[in-house]
Amino acid sequence: MDGVIITVAPTGSVPTRQHTPHVPLTPDEIAEDVFRCWEAGAAIAHIHARDVHNSPTTDPAVFAEIGEKIRSRCDIIVMISTGGRASSLVEDRAAPLSLNPEMASLTTGSTNFGTSAYINTPADIERLATEMRDRGIKPEIEVFDSAMIANALRLAGAGVLPPPLHFQFVMGVQGAIPATAKNLLHLVESIPPGSTWSVAGIGRAQLAMGTLALVMGGHVRVGLEDNLQYTKGMLATNVQLVERVVRLAAEIGRPVCTPAEARVVLGLPRCGEV
Ligand code: MG
Repeated sequence: MDGVIITVAPTGSVPTRQHTPHVPLTPDEIAEDVFRCWEAGAAIAHIHARDVHNSPTTDPAVFAEIGEKIRSRCDIIVMISTGGRASSLVEDRAAPLSLNPEMASLTTGSTNFGTSAYINTPADIERLATEMRDRGIKPEIEVFDSAMIANALRLAGAGVLPPPLHFQFVMGVQGAIPATAKNLLHLVESIPPGSTWSVAGIGRAQLAMGTLALVMGGHVRVGLEDNLQYTKGMLATNVQLVERVVRLAAEIGRPVCTPAEARVVLGLPRCGEV
């Protein structure tokens, strides 16, 4: 089977030191952790930034510092999050795109998310996607529910999302699509031929959904953004979560893509500037 691209999502917007001592928060901590995950086999780093109070931020200067510190140490693909927890204003969310990262996440719809709502209006989605297209940034289409695939396909039809499309199925968020094999099959069967896909299971679903993706020929995202525990009651590190996917891939017969190989698989148009 083809190689598997492992994405690490080391930080996210939610975990703090109250949740786990292992989450990297400062640019130095994030760059160090990403470097060690790259050594372990990760090809993409999905980056969120925090301010000096450890709150989520969209400040391009913080993203730039993280990106520079990562790129000085390894060739991992840097993907910047345009998620909505740091700010609900689309101009804030778009600000880090000015750094011309190689990839950026793009959520193509709204969903409940635990006790809150994650809002992505059609206008905001198109705004973010258009800037990614114009800058040559490859979007990772974050799909929390199947309607978000339909929204992405509409944008693709309008020329806003250039093919080939790359999807990240985020499964098991409370309020969005449950993390089941049946649902994953439905999502995979709903994307156009020639697309690539990865799965990010939330919490305990990270292991099961990642294993399913390995068997089905998809790609895998792990990390403390989505899951804090290695097993029930035992806190994980990002490196441990990457290492487990590498071992599972070896057992299942999937080679692990280097960043250079991942760039070919994803058809990345150019190397990033951050
Ligand atoms: Mg994210």
